[in-house]
Amino acid sequence: MSVLTEPRRGATTGELQDEIRRIARERNAVILAHNYQRPEAKTGADTIVFCGVHFMAETAAILSPQKTVLLPDLAAGCSLAATITAQQLRDWKAEHPGAVVVSYVNTSAEVKAETDYCCTSGNAVDVINAIPADREILFLPDMFLGAHVRRMTGRDNIHVWMGECHVHAGIDPDDLTRQRAEHPGAELLVHPECGCTTSVLEAISAGDLAEGDVRVLSTEGMMRRPAQSPANEFIVATEVGILYRLRRENPGKQFFAANDQASCVYMKVTTLPKVLRALERNQHRIVVAPDIADRARLAIERMVSIGGAPATVPADPGE
Ligand code: SF4
Repeated sequence: MSVLTEPRRGATTGELQDEIRRIARERNAVILAHNYQRPEAKTGADTIVFCGVHFMAETAAILSPQKTVLLPDLAAGCSLAATITAQQLRDWKAEHPGAVVVSYVNTSAEVKAETDYCCTSGNAVDVINAIPADREILFLPDMFLGAHVRRMTGRDNIHVWMGECHVHAGIDPDDLTRQRAEHPGAELLVHPECGCTTSVLEAISAGDLAEGDVRVLSTEGMMRRPAQSPANEFIVATEVGILYRLRRENPGKQFFAANDQASCVYMKVTTLPKVLRALERNQHRIVVAPDIADRARLAIERMVSIGGAPATVPADPGE
């Protein structure tokens, strides 16, 4: 058992990291940075310290109910997830009886529990296509992703919740057009796994962003791309946090943020001293009530089951 200590005043980053690693080993804990995939379901650790925002930690708790999931700072929310509550969704469903509910992963556990299928920006179109064409769909909470899937699927029976993430306002397609004029040889890398770039995704599918070398990539795809590309300059459209790793791993190339202001305050609240405190004090434990978790897990599992095999999806999620 480790001794409870306050992070030593003036401790260096390296010292904090060493201490975090030591306690994590002692507690069989894993530290996860934000990611919408399911590595948390595969880890052998007993404790997951989630360095992301609240809905992501909830998703880890839903997928791994036997593990202890800790969020170092409860202020790590998400402005997009906050645009809809479970009660608002129930009211919306009551207005559209029989509609199928598709929720982007940026939602609370309670909202997921009211959902038929979860989706990510990467598979939203596949998820919608797996639902019979004559079924009405309620898509939430991101209006840009909703407009994108409506266009890509050609369906006019998709109702879209008018939610948005505060960060994407900083990644305006007009900014991108300007940046590309200033760096004509640059590749445009778009990372759509958070609400912050769905407006860009929507502009691409609408044809509002000029053709050119646009790559829509996952986190790891984005990390690999600079080494594979002949380009020396890249314009990066996503929350600015990813630039640090891109620059560190590709010192010979240049990276420009689509907009330096595109920074998510919620993703920045987690600091090393808070991670250390979370491990030492076993705080803040994210617990999802079993009945909510079971229903939310079903919506997530339906999404996972689609992965390229839409025929496996039940025609009526209520069945
Ligand atoms: Fe939520 Fe936007 Fe922050 Fe992503 S960038 S966590 S969508 S507020």
